[in-house]
Amino acid sequence: AIHGDDQGLMLPFCVAPLQIVIVPILFSKDEKQNNAILKECEKLLNDLKDYKVSLDLSDRSAGFKFNEWEMKGVPIRIELGPRDLEKKQATVSLRTSKEKLNIKLTDLKKKIPELAELNDKKLEDTANKYFKGNIKDASTLSEIKKIIETHRGFVRTPFCSVAMEGKTCADKLKAETGGVDVCGYLFEKQEKPTGNCPVCKKKATIVVYVAKSV
Ligand SMILES: [Zn+2]
Repeated sequence: AIHGDDQGLMLPFCVAPLQIVIVPILFSKDEKQNNAILKECEKLLNDLKDYKVSLDLSDRSAGFKFNEWEMKGVPIRIELGPRDLEKKQATVSLRTSKEKLNIKLTDLKKKIPELAELNDKKLEDTANKYFKGNIKDASTLSEIKKIIETHRGFVRTPFCSVAMEGKTCADKLKAETGGVDVCGYLFEKQEKPTGNCPVCKKKATIVVYVAKSV
């Protein structure tokens, strides 16, 4: 666990093993309506397939599902019920905030990065103190590997880039460490890097925070 409250885990979007869960709100009597909702949920599932997303089709009550996904720290929950369908919208909840947002179905996909950032920002605000005592420094790949074996928080390391050109290094880091993700955007303050990217050995341009998914 990186952080939590009495409802369970809270996770930054980038390290959450499941980032988005879609929960259909079905009322057993109206089969036609249920089918229309399910169809829309399947469509969303497909739209969002670039993320780690799941559609909860189990028979459990909506309340039970909400609890479970909250416990597991899924950052974004999308509900779709009869009223949402009527308005061509979904009801979105972030794990780190109590408020619910109504978002047009056609806008949902492009809103995900913004929602992820909002989730992480709130997490950062509430957990800042926790994170501060939970960071270790590394400058080589073997150091990162060694620290991550026993440390459940963040590892701070210089890195070549968090733009597209750094993606190869991020992918390689993940592959070679058994699942460590770059979570650089968690911290807004800019730090001056020294040394080189632990992966490609180019001069570092940025300091990033990496962590392993739980
Ligand atoms: Zn690199």
